[in-house]
This record gives sequence, structure tokens and C-alpha cells, in this order.
Amino acid sequence: MKRPFVNEPLTDFSARANAEAFGQALAKVRATFGRAYPLIVGGEKIYTDDILESRNPSNPSEVVGRVSQATPELADRAVREAAKAFEHWKRIPYTERARYLFHAAKIMRERKHEFSALMVYEAGKPWVEADADTAEAIDFMEYYGREMLRLGKPHPTHPEPYHETELHYIPLGVGIVIPPWNFPCAIMTGMTTATIVTGNTAVLKPASATPVIAAWLAEIFVDQLHLPAGVLNFLPGPGGAVGDVLVDHPLTRFVAFTGSKEVGIRINQRAAAVNPGQRWLKRTILEMGGKDAILVDETADPEEAAAGIVAAAFGYQGQKCSACSRAVIVEPLYDAVLERIVERTKNLDVSDPALGPGVEMGPVIDEKALKKHLEYIAIGKGEGRLVAGGESVSAPSGGYFLQPTVIADVAPDARLAQEEVFGPVLAVIKARDFTEGMEIVNNTEYGLTGSLYSMRRDRLECARQEFHVGNLYLNRKCTHALVGVHPFGGFNMSGTDSKAGGSDYLQLFMQAKVVSEKV
Ligand code: NAP
Ligand code: MG
Repeated sequence: MKRPFVNEPLTDFSARANAEAFGQALAKVRATFGRAYPLIVGGEKIYTDDILESRNPSNPSEVVGRVSQATPELADRAVREAAKAFEHWKRIPYTERARYLFHAAKIMRERKHEFSALMVYEAGKPWVEADADTAEAIDFMEYYGREMLRLGKPHPTHPEPYHETELHYIPLGVGIVIPPWNFPCAIMTGMTTATIVTGNTAVLKPASATPVIAAWLAEIFVDQLHLPAGVLNFLPGPGGAVGDVLVDHPLTRFVAFTGSKEVGIRINQRAAAVNPGQRWLKRTILEMGGKDAILVDETADPEEAAAGIVAAAFGYQGQKCSACSRAVIVEPLYDAVLERIVERTKNLDVSDPALGPGVEMGPVIDEKALKKHLEYIAIGKGEGRLVAGGESVSAPSGGYFLQPTVIADVAPDARLAQEEVFGPVLAVIKARDFTEGMEIVNNTEYGLTGSLYSMRRDRLECARQEFHVGNLYLNRKCTHALVGVHPFGGFNMSGTDSKAGGSDYLQLFMQAKVVSEKV
């Protein structure tokens, strides 16, 4: 019997021993800089001439790892290898498959600070954010392993005389796993391990900004746990060059994707086509963008609301799908909350997160992102009033640092109130009253997370009903969903309404077979 699932505890960096251990992990990871990482296809390690240098966004001259890149031919081969391995892996008992996840979780827990330290360098995550990312990856493996133990058993159906009938879940086939860079460990690990624990085989195409952390996960399964060849294929490469090959492949059975709305829509459309040799309709599990709002009414505590807004807007530089990018504040409290938001924002320490646990904001992911955010800030200045930040922070290292930025008096239909920026840029919107505030929070094409700060029972109840988001929080910030506690995923253009880390997630990776025997 496995003990019941519990979330992995977060590390307290105010304890000196923890901070020291993390410092040592940073040094250990730094010593691996420049290492070469191969593709893994059908168990074979393949080094290609085409190399991607994964760089440290705090210091772009530092190469965290040199990662071989797939070609369309190798992508085709990976899907074929995965299809071949499926014939064996689908017959492996679910209990055995679950044990691979529990063992991988144990290894990751033992090397927890190393995984987090790698994200400090490869993704620019502050320590606490990196620590939470690794903890979430461990949680996904512990949780999905247990979920498989629950779901893998035969399930009785309504009894019928003289018949013995049962339902059981069987895998689908080859799954293409395409994660984003912003939770480079957690989301990547979650989608990959959900695929394999359910008896499918995976082609993991990591995000090009963060392929090294994905290579580390692949090494755990392939090198340390000796997962049978072809069950997990590691296929780094540019999404634009190999994505279509993977999605279109007639042997592909499903695609698990987390990323932008644009790429999600493209995958959905292409997966709908039935290509020559294909014997099924492909399934897609798509988690996409957000334009998440925190609504504050006149009964809320302005200090608490401002603290929640600033934490949710600028945690990991605003590069979370759950980040608060719209603060909607009712007129009577508008000035009081805005003032506190500005004060807190101006106090945030932006620098290289490798410097220590006190760094609250690191760099944005790359130069392209920095440029895009600055463009949105320019748009925002035309649409509202710049009250904090607005400029990049020059660093001798050439890191991609941006001041946390607040633009006030933004109209609900302005571009800055509608389009996902995915960086440290917050739009503040004034609502006449709670009723208008509710209309504003629901007026985008997304529906991922949201919060309401209010003391009024009737309004909290109203939000429960009417605030149309997959993850709604009342009197707390809209980020930091926990596996098992807050199954995560949004509505409308935020995806296919699935819930990662919840009790109906693994069914998305399986199909139910019913066997009835006359006795
Ligand atoms: P992205 O640009 O859409 O990339 C996501 C993944 O798709 C990457 O691995 C990317 O590869 C790949 N890709 C690119 N073009 C492709 C194509 N034509 N076919 C197949 N795959 C392709 O998103 P991102 O910038 O990494 O992540 C940020 C976005 O993710 C935001 O919109 C955010 O809201 C969303 N997100 C959503 C959730 C959620 O749970 N709903 C969670 C986290 C993030 P390359 O890196 O090689 O281009
Ligand atoms: Mg990088």
C-alpha cells in the first residue's frame, strides 16, 4: 500500500542550512555548463550536427547546455520507435508502470536542489519559484502514480444476472508531449509521466528555451531506471520545424500540449485531419494562455489585495499562465489599492536570481520576449498611465531584465486588457462597481484563473457562479495551484478544459474497454 499522497514541502531558504545546500547545488550545476545532450530515440543516443545552445537569460554568454536538435526525419523515426515500443509497454502491468514514477520521484527528491538550481540558470527562476517548480514535478509523479493504482484496477459496472462485466482503462498509443518553458520541470514532467504511466509511449519535444531540464528527466528514466527502449523518446528541436511532423504523423494517437493559444489552435486543427494510414481520430489535450484578473471590491482590505495582486503579477516575472495581468478595482477603493500596488512594485528587487534567495524577480526568458514586452509597454502607455517601471534594466551581463511595470486607467477593451503579454506588465482597470467589475473580468477570450477580494458573502457566492475561469480563488492570489489540491486548467481559449493534477486527468490519456461474459 502506498501512503496517501501529500504535497512535497517547499524549502525555507531563511534557514541557513537550506540556503547553503542550494548554493552548493548552484555550484554543482555550474560545473556542468556546456555539456552536450543527445536526442534519445528508441533507446539510442543520437548527437546531431545541429546544436542548440541553451543560454542563461541572466547572463546570455553562459551556455547551460549544448543540445542536439532533431530533424523532421528524426521526428518521424521517433514516432515509429514509440509505436513499436507501445506493443510491449501496453502489456506491462499498471502497478509496474506506477513504480517507475515513484522511483523517478525519489531520485528527483534526492537531487531536488540541483533540478531547481538548473532552472535558476536555464529559465531565470528565483530560488523559491524554482523550488516550487521541482516540488510540483515530484508531486505530479507521486500523484499520477497513485491515480494509476486507483484507475488501473477493473471497475465493476451495474450488475446484470448471469453475467460478469467489468470496465477497464487501456492506453491509447503514441503520445506527443509538447511542454512550454515557463514551468520547465513541472509541466514537462507532468505531461510526460501521465503519458507513460497510463501505458502509452511518448515523444517528448521540450521547449527550445529549456531543453536541458527535460534532458535531465529523460536521463532519470532512460539511464537510471532503464525504462524499456522507445517508451520515452527525447526529441529536442524547433517546434516550427518538427512540430507539424509529430502532430501530423499517422501513428500519432494523441497530443498533450501546453503553450500559447496560437500554437494550440494550430495543433488542434492539424490533429483533426485524418492522414493516409491513420486508423483513429487523434485526441488533443491542450492547455493554453490566460489573461487572468483579480477583482477587488470596496469591502476588501486594500493592503491584502495589493499584496496578492503584486505577488501574482510579478512572480516569475509574470511569466505564468496563471499570472494576474489585470487588476480590476472598484471606484471607491481604486486609488487606495493602486497606491499600494505601486509602492510594492517599486520595492521589488530585480536581478540575477543566482545571487541569492532574496532576489524577487529575475530576467525574462529571452531577448525576443524582452522586445515584445517593451512593445506592449509602449502600447500600454498610449492606452493608460504608466505608474511603475516601464523600462529594461541594464546589466553588464547583458541579461534580459525588465522593471516590473504597472499601467493604470486601462480601458477594459484596450489591447493591454485583452492580449496575453506573458511578462511583468500589469494593467489596472477601474470598475464603477462590483457588477461592472464582474462583466470586465469575464470579457476576454480566455478563462484560466481569477480572484475576487471581498468581504461580502453575496458577492463571493456570485463569483462562484459567474466568474468563468477554470481556477477561481476567493480572497487569495490567483497563482500557486497545488497538485491534487487545485486541479489546474482553464476554459474557452485557455484550452480543452482539462485539469492537470486532478482526479480526471489520467482518463484523458486512456480509453475504457468493457468486457462482459455470460456465466
Ligand atoms: P509556445 O510558443 O506556444 O510553445 C510551446 C511549445 O510548443 C514549445 O515546446 C514550442 O517549441 C512548441 N511549438 C512551437 N511551434 C510549434 C508547432 N508549430 N507545432 C508544435 N509545437 C510547436 O508557448 P511558450 O512560449 O513556450 O509558453 C508560453 C505560453 O504557454 C503562454 O501562452 C502561457 O499562458 C501558456 N501556458 C499555459 C499553461 C496552462 O496550464 N494553461 C501553463 C503554462 C503556460 P519551441 O520552443 O521549439 O518553439
Ligand atoms: Mg535559456
